[in-house]
Amino acid sequence: MENLIVLKYGGTSVGTLDRIKNVAEKVAKLHRSGKNIVVVVSAMAGETDKLLGMAEKLIDKPARREIDLLLSSGERISCALLSIALQALGCPAEAMTGRQIGMHTDDAHTRARIIHIDTTKTLKKLKENKILVVAGFQGINEDGDVTTLGRGGSDTSAVALAVALKAEQCEILTDVDGVFTADPNIVPNARKLDMVSFDEMLEMASLGAKVLQIRCVEFAKKYNMPLLVRSSFEDQSKGTLICKENKDMEQPIVSGVMRDDKQAKITVKGVVDKPGIASEIFTALGNAGLSVDMIIQNISAEGHTDISFTLASVDCDEAIAIMEAITDKIGLKEILVDRKISKISIVGAGMRSHSGVAAKMFQTLSAEKINILMISTSEIKVSCIIEQKHSKLAVQQLHSAFNLEKKPRRITKKQ
Ligand code: ASP
Ligand code: MG
Repeated sequence: MENLIVLKYGGTSVGTLDRIKNVAEKVAKLHRSGKNIVVVVSAMAGETDKLLGMAEKLIDKPARREIDLLLSSGERISCALLSIALQALGCPAEAMTGRQIGMHTDDAHTRARIIHIDTTKTLKKLKENKILVVAGFQGINEDGDVTTLGRGGSDTSAVALAVALKAEQCEILTDVDGVFTADPNIVPNARKLDMVSFDEMLEMASLGAKVLQIRCVEFAKKYNMPLLVRSSFEDQSKGTLICKENKDMEQPIVSGVMRDDKQAKITVKGVVDKPGIASEIFTALGNAGLSVDMIIQNISAEGHTDISFTLASVDCDEAIAIMEAITDKIGLKEILVDRKISKISIVGAGMRSHSGVAAKMFQTLSAEKINILMISTSEIKVSCIIEQKHSKLAVQQLHSAFNLEKKPRRITKKQ
């Protein structure tokens, strides 16, 4: 639809009634300037955790179906309140739940995927000049049961709606000014990036940048919907534009340094070195829904080998139990666990065309006498596992080694 903008406000931005009023004023102004508007909201800050905590007080593992119904109520509250606040300003607003906005998903409760959005009603209402205020994070499955899209899922609701309604723009308004070269809490002179490619953002989101849900970035990339991430508190904020990498676009070699302290490393020692063992181990983990990050298999001696892998530390106990269950099958001798590790990564699309980036990372760590336990790379990323106690220092040193505090000395790509 022409002249349509989809805005998404995060939990902090709608965290109190005053903030909701503030958002309403901004939306009202934009509407009066002639824009068609869909506003997607998250639950008020802390609400989702509070509801989840209540359920977990009743039972260890609440049923996913009931969790979805429970958590979806958080976004119903914030969307209804914002719609009321807009009406108080004389705006023709209407609050919509996931069902009402036509958000159809599969039935993977608590991590549902969007299958289809029925836009008929929505387009009709927008043509009547209504402002639609949508409860993010939720949809319905084939049976009409409420589903949710995973934590942080309102970002994905917003992008999916922007794509389905052919919006001109999708803005994610949040409590930070955009995407930064590093976490400003660790690196005080971290710099806001003006532009980040979809691929870089995908790496950053999977490496622990919490500013956007990873599925939202996947969606935006798939349908080439540019996203503007900016602060909802500062009107002057230009934010960060996340868009398709442009062939003529100049790229800094490294765009950001990320740290993930919530990792654990498991080593299974002395497993039999024969075909099918790795498959046995990782199929068992995969079947339990655990996703493994890095894997290293050591050179084997006398028919046996050690395999190390990393995964999210919350999944560590479950992974150990799974390894214990298949001990006999894989001929496992010993399981070692290291929970005090960190994954430090550098990301940058410019790496595709420049060599020596990984070497520079290793030199920087070695100059600080930081030992590297594991390494993995992709086209636009290098990650190292190190001891957790060095993680802050590593981020700070890498940030300055790659001159990230300075406005990019943009380096033209080799043709
Ligand atoms: N309220 C949900 C959460 O806290 C979804 C969202 O905020 O995007 O994860
Ligand atoms: Mg969020």
